[in-house]
Amino acid sequence: MNSLHLHLAHLDHNYKIIREKLDSKTQLIGVVKANVYGVKNQHFIKRLVALGVDYLAVAYAKEGEDLRENGIKIPILVFYPQHDELEKIIDAKLEPCLYNRNILQAFKKIIRKKKVLNYPIHIKYNTGLNRLGFSPKDTAWVIKELKNSLLRLVSVYSHLAASEETRPSSVCVNQIKNFKDIQNKHLKETGIRPKFHLLNSSGVFNYPEFQFDMVRCGIAFHGYANNREWDSDLKPVAALNSKISQIHFVKKGELVGYDNGWRAPQDSRIATLPIGHADGIGRHYGHQNGKVLINGEKAPIVGNICMDLLMVNVTSIECKEMDNATFFNEIHSAADFADSGNSISYELLSNLGPRIVRVVHNEK
Ligand SMILES: *Cc1c(COP(=O)(O)O)cnc(C)c1O
Repeated sequence: MNSLHLHLAHLDHNYKIIREKLDSKTQLIGVVKANVYGVKNQHFIKRLVALGVDYLAVAYAKEGEDLRENGIKIPILVFYPQHDELEKIIDAKLEPCLYNRNILQAFKKIIRKKKVLNYPIHIKYNTGLNRLGFSPKDTAWVIKELKNSLLRLVSVYSHLAASEETRPSSVCVNQIKNFKDIQNKHLKETGIRPKFHLLNSSGVFNYPEFQFDMVRCGIAFHGYANNREWDSDLKPVAALNSKISQIHFVKKGELVGYDNGWRAPQDSRIATLPIGHADGIGRHYGHQNGKVLINGEKAPIVGNICMDLLMVNVTSIECKEMDNATFFNEIHSAADFADSGNSISYELLSNLGPRIVRVVHNEK
């Protein structure tokens, strides 16, 4: 039926490309949130760890707990801890990012209650994305709160708002300046030197000179860096295949799909595929936006995408029931397919549902 093929040799390649952009002492954080960007596969994570990432990072505590249950031993940073997850973070030996006064004080309280010493934490500053993070104005407060506390500051970081934007990007220039100011304040005040980091995948390609002590890469391991030129250095790990369930002949003027989504402009052949919006192929790919490769040719998705099925126009394509239909692969990449639905590789990959079988190609 539907299968997501994972070529781990391509992960090896992407890892090598990323490492080549880094100084030998720069640490690499492998970001594996949201089920490893929808890949939903332990082999992928284990390969990443075997390749040599220094850290893993997830969004929420439950994701980190799952990694521990799967035997992952390396440090795990939790980007967005919530108040009701703080005990879980300590129990699973995860390292929280503390991003505002409230969460920092709540975490200190729990640490005191549990009588833990020297607990590793990370601090995030908001330098311009305006999402999560301490204000740069809080730097002195943060430094004071951490002094003589039971917490050990491992790293200080921030996140760029437009790391893929063509240079010079005024928003990034500003953020980098803010981050350097914060770095200077921390270096001046504290005894132990924390690590500093700012870059995600595109950042590593666009601003390698600002790699500081660590970088945080997620999508690049999957073969994407939000820019066609950078993408061409990488290899897509995942390919999504489906199979034609049925082919219909419809006469000119006949309707296809829910709510009369498509009217045949001529006598047509329509192929139905067993994949729908419940599997992550959202309705925005309908109405000829998304195109599926069948026997090397592009068949547009017609009408509205259903929950479990969708229809493509194969009038001009030679094909039969049971033939393969490819949503994305190395040639027609997930970034290309996502583009057609006004989306991005991140959303497309991370929405791929559990009904799609993951097939691991473990070749070295
Ligand atoms: C998801 C995330 C990353 C990884 O970004 P990519 O673009 O996938 O490399 C890095 N940092 C933070 C804070 C994130 O939330």
